[in-house]
Amino acid sequence: MIKPRKIPMRMCMGCRTRRPKRELVRVVRTPEGAVVLDPTGKKSGRGTYVCADNPACLEKAVKSKALERALEAPVSQEIYEELRRALEQNIKEGTDDRE
Ligand SMILES: [Zn+2]
Repeated sequence: MIKPRKIPMRMCMGCRTRRPKRELVRVVRTPEGAVVLDPTGKKSGRGTYVCADNPACLEKAVKSKALERALEAPVSQEIYEELRRALEQNIKEGTDDRE
């Protein structure tokens, strides 16, 4: 009997869709209380997610303060900028052929 491979699912704070974890970008509030980006998905702390391939989700989450609510901590503009850059990077890598 083959066990089905379990894919961890997480919910995007923008579109509220559950997706495989690796298709999302994780933001984590560390035990020290700092809010940071977690590209590896391995940091400890309270995590929240947005789609890695859709900037609209991030903007929605920014507007609704969904990340702040999920993390129960303020999220600085710098973190949002980092997120935007991470998403841009992701989208580029996902769609472009190497030049
Ligand atoms: Zn989304």
